[in-house]
Amino acid sequence: MAFKDFGEKRVEQRGPSQPRVPINGLVADACSPTAWSLPSPRSDRAVDLHIFLTSIQCPAYSTDADTYEWTTSTKQDAKFSAQNTWQDMRLSAPVQPVAETIWFKGAIPRNNFNMWIANLNRLPTRARLAGWGLQINKACCLCSAFEETRDHLLLSCAYSMEVWRLSIGRLNPPNSLFRTWAELLSWIRGTSVAAPSLLRKLAVQCIIYHLWKQRNNVLHNHTVLPPTTIFRIVDKEMRNTITARRERKHFINLMVKWMR
Ligand SMILES: [Zn+2]
Repeated sequence: MAFKDFGEKRVEQRGPSQPRVPINGLVADACSPTAWSLPSPRSDRAVDLHIFLTSIQCPAYSTDADTYEWTTSTKQDAKFSAQNTWQDMRLSAPVQPVAETIWFKGAIPRNNFNMWIANLNRLPTRARLAGWGLQINKACCLCSAFEETRDHLLLSCAYSMEVWRLSIGRLNPPNSLFRTWAELLSWIRGTSVAAPSLLRKLAVQCIIYHLWKQRNNVLHNHTVLPPTTIFRIVDKEMRNTITARRERKHFINLMVKWMR
């Protein structure tokens, strides 16, 4: 191995000049037959290098060929990994507890993303639009009886409650369904033999997406579909989703539980 590469990692970007090794010198040039032969250290990093060298075997005793090793704070590998390097370099925010409730393997990206936006309460409901100063009617698009907030539109609206009742009646829902977003998240995290968490997550994301789509359908296309039609769309999408993933370990028994 060239000492230049070795030195750049351990000494400083000036390369091997500090330890007085030629620019194209090898690691072997920095040691005698019995020990390392480097000048006295004159910087903290050079001291670090010397301390490091005391922890490894002098190459003079080694008969193996030199090898490269890529080291990040968490992994060592003989091959360079752009992923590991990026993970090591980037600033990462702590994972939010709700994230694993929303992002999971096998989810439909469209429903996933919509759920994430809904969870952040960023869907442009009429109550939010009015909050931004728009002079609009704040009534719910689905029932016209209450202000259109996220929790009303997607959970407690009579129209939505009927869709929930039809869709998740077989998945051990709470008696009074969901009054708040926190109750919905709490139910998703729960699990039982009849209604595993994965099935709950899939169903909730599918229902939330189609309720929001129906709301937009009413608002922009003036098309009103009954809750039973939304249920049929949800049911068909759930069957297709599970069928498409039937080879996956966690999806094997889901169809029976969904159709039960
Ligand atoms: Zn409503």
